[in-house]
Amino acid sequence: MNQHSESLGMLVKAVAFAADKHRNQRRKDADASPYINHPIALANVLANEGGVTDVAVLCAAVLHDTIEDTETTPEELTAVFGPQVTAIVLDVTDDKSLDKQVRKQRQIEHAPHISREAKLVKLADKICNLRDILATPPSDWSPDRKQAYFDWAAKVVAGVSGVHPELEAAFGRLLARHAELR
Ligand code: NDP
Ligand code: ZN
Repeated sequence: MNQHSESLGMLVKAVAFAADKHRNQRRKDADASPYINHPIALANVLANEGGVTDVAVLCAAVLHDTIEDTETTPEELTAVFGPQVTAIVLDVTDDKSLDKQVRKQRQIEHAPHISREAKLVKLADKICNLRDILATPPSDWSPDRKQAYFDWAAKVVAGVSGVHPELEAAFGRLLARHAELR
């Protein structure tokens, strides 16, 4: 198998793996969309808006919530996808044993220190979540709750500054659009 086919195979394997792990989960929008739409959206932003071709980054995007939100372990990810993809996923995984406010603050503090690959995944995650809040928000979020999320996301993304100017500009446009709607 040539390298291109191997990369493609790995990416499809990541999509199948994540779809299975998230199979019973739903997003928080009013329609309770299938959870897997979100990890696929990250990979779509990176590949088709950001021009990212690094298959480890695209796989990590698809897998980014498996350790945080499912029973998946780092050992399992390493066995299937190797240490490079697993390290990226771990860099964007919150420690759920910590208090929520502490976790949110940690994301702001850690963002500048994670790998370039993990910064790309983190940036795509925030872009996708802001788009979701604009288009299909959690039904019980007040305008203030949405504003708090945008403010927090902006602080996290400030920490990955320089990693991908075009995608950072796309993020900035979402902040501007939200500000206009208020
Ligand atoms: P939540 O964890 O409660 O919800 C947001 C997370 O849910 C997203 O990061 C995303 O995570 C996931 N998600 C699922 N469905 C959707 C959807 N349709 N749209 C958007 N996101 C979705 O919020 P946070 O704890 O992350 O809060 C972030 C900020 O808001 C913090 O600064 C916090 O302090 C503040 N906050 C404000 C409150 C208020 O009432 N003003 C209350 C609580 C927090 P993923 O990508 O991992 O799936
Ligand atoms: Zn996410």
